Amino acid sequence: MPDRTPILAANWKMNKTIEETERFLAEFLPKVPDEGGPEVVICPPYPSLKTAVELCLQSRVRIAAQNMHQEEDGAYTGEVSAPMLIELGITGVILGHSERRQYFGETDDALARKVPVALDARLEPILCVGENEAQRDSDETEGVLTRQIEADLASVDDGRLGEIVIAYEPIWAIGTGRTATPEQAQEAIALIRGLIRSRSAEAADAIRILYGGSVKPGNAAELLSQTDVDGALVGGASLDPGDFSAIVAAAA
Ligand code: PEP
Repeated sequence: MPDRTPILAANWKMNKTIEETERFLAEFLPKVPDEGGPEVVICPPYPSLKTAVELCLQSRVRIAAQNMHQEEDGAYTGEVSAPMLIELGITGVILGHSERRQYFGETDDALARKVPVALDARLEPILCVGENEAQRDSDETEGVLTRQIEADLASVDDGRLGEIVIAYEPIWAIGTGRTATPEQAQEAIALIRGLIRSRSAEAADAIRILYGGSVKPGNAAELLSQTDVDGALVGGASLDPGDFSAIVAAAA
């Protein structure tokens, strides 16, 4: 049985000022065990990244960004590059979140460049994939996930696939309060692992694949107990230190 340390990642989206970040961490960090248990990653908005890195230095909590541009520098107004994140002490980056795909025109072509750029910069990519409600209702989930995984990971060497984190996030479950059933999460994540296995058996055993979509303290344990579910990407419930620490505890 492959031994994969679970990851609990908090996607704060466009929430929390620097002051609110400080308050959250003052309450949350004492609840995170010093050793053992899952890896914990918090993804604040850009302005809070430096503060969050500094406040988490003495803890096991790592800080990741919510997006990054594929170029190192240049005329890309409003964008941030991998070297800029590394300079702040960031260890990972969410890529391809459905909100970025939906509202900001993030494409699979851009993601095919971003994922290897993040890996080369030593940023752990958390690549998000998932189908929308109409696609699920018309049985297109498998096709959508296959297309996204094939396109987004097209330029990653097979030998490096195990270093990536994938988050399966059905769009119909994000921020809606409607959670995938544990069986739906397991089935989709097993499918994704199978796609990775077709390129590298070693990577398929090593890669962490998370579930995301209305994870709460009350449903986390059951979702996380599924064989192929290696953790969760948590939006709304990660904004509250009590709720997020309860979700972390559910993975222990
Ligand atoms: C997300 O946006 O990544 C997410 C999973 O949000 P929520 O937990 O609020 O559904």
